[in-house]
Amino acid sequence: MDSKQQQRSAEAQRRLARQRALKRKKIAKRRRMIRFFIIFAVIYVVLMMAVAVGIFINLHIKSDDNVEKYDVEVSNPNKDEDEDNTVYSGDDVYFDSELYIPFEAIGELSDYTLTKDGDVVGIVFRESGEYAKFTVDTLKANVNGNEVELSSNSKFIDGKLYLPIEFYETHLIGFTATKNDEEMKYTVSRSTDEPYEFLLKKPSSTDTQSEQTANGTTEAHLDFTLDLSAYEQYMNPENRDEYLFLVNAENPLDENYVPDDLLGSIYTRDDGRATQKLRKYACFALEAFLKEAEACGIDGVTVTSAYRSYEYQSQLFQNEISITGSEEEAAKNVNPPGISEHQSGLCIDMHNLPAASTAFGGTVEGDWLEENAHKFGYILRYPKNKVSITGINYEPWHFRYVGRYHATKMHELGMCLEEYIEYINK
Ligand SMILES: [Zn+2]
Repeated sequence: MDSKQQQRSAEAQRRLARQRALKRKKIAKRRRMIRFFIIFAVIYVVLMMAVAVGIFINLHIKSDDNVEKYDVEVSNPNKDEDEDNTVYSGDDVYFDSELYIPFEAIGELSDYTLTKDGDVVGIVFRESGEYAKFTVDTLKANVNGNEVELSSNSKFIDGKLYLPIEFYETHLIGFTATKNDEEMKYTVSRSTDEPYEFLLKKPSSTDTQSEQTANGTTEAHLDFTLDLSAYEQYMNPENRDEYLFLVNAENPLDENYVPDDLLGSIYTRDDGRATQKLRKYACFALEAFLKEAEACGIDGVTVTSAYRSYEYQSQLFQNEISITGSEEEAAKNVNPPGISEHQSGLCIDMHNLPAASTAFGGTVEGDWLEENAHKFGYILRYPKNKVSITGINYEPWHFRYVGRYHATKMHELGMCLEEYIEYINK
């Protein structure tokens, strides 16, 4: 091989090497581009997924941070005056954006014992023996042997039982929680001067049916705006005849008769007067009555008088004699002691006027109370068209508890208590 040939061959080899290098570069460049594209695509997909998850969380999962947290204050009537009310900070009582109340708060208002058996935390009221059990971190609960479902999981944290506020409102009679938007707090208090008692949850609809037949009431017609199931046993007492009796001139009460189950009513007019008391069943049925009235837009009706002792009625009567001049005249306005229904603890005067007046009849409020009273076990005791039978002037403010069964019958028959008792005794 001559030198020219050698030169040519070397050149050819260099050209080949250059071409190969160029090709490698091209391949590397393409690979870089593909890699870049893949990375870009992955980032894009991840970003889009993050956005989607973010939107989902925003839409479906309420964040505690977005919720306005109200404090919970316990208004305890038994504590010393200089003692501050217990306050639970809103930061400690919200779980999953729901307001919970530690059961401990109820302990200030009523004695109870806390029990714990594995996951099941229970409370028992010492006086009444009523109880409830909660399977912690689930919706499962049991009230006096009846399975119920909570609106949110129960919590047990640092030895404290936390339940959604809805539980107390549904199952704890006498429990009131007043919301104050300005101060961002709920004030928890007791509506009666008795310890709280748990109420039985209304039985299932089939059970209710048979019970209705047994008790004879047509509960199916009752479509309350509120869930009043907790009050059912009081509006419709098991012993339906227990409260059906007359108190009038022919049927006086004994001078010494004092009911032994009087409770103060939360609906007592707030004008400095003493808390008005009535018998337990009448008191809780009235609570249902006026709660439903408020829910139906009937505002401002309060109790001005309920139980009156024999002595107090004597004072009222003596006072009236000094005004009218004679017992006869006085008796037209005020019942003599013994024959006042107010001594029974089963009746109330309630209205929204400065003073009781026949003008209450015919107002939206007065008419609503009269028309709906029977659903809650009450009757308007001295109707306008029965003055000749009752012997008492028309009193659109005076309602008497007899229980739903008889109240409904009287409503349907258009009878006052005197007529009705004669009718059923025939
Ligand atoms: Zn009255």
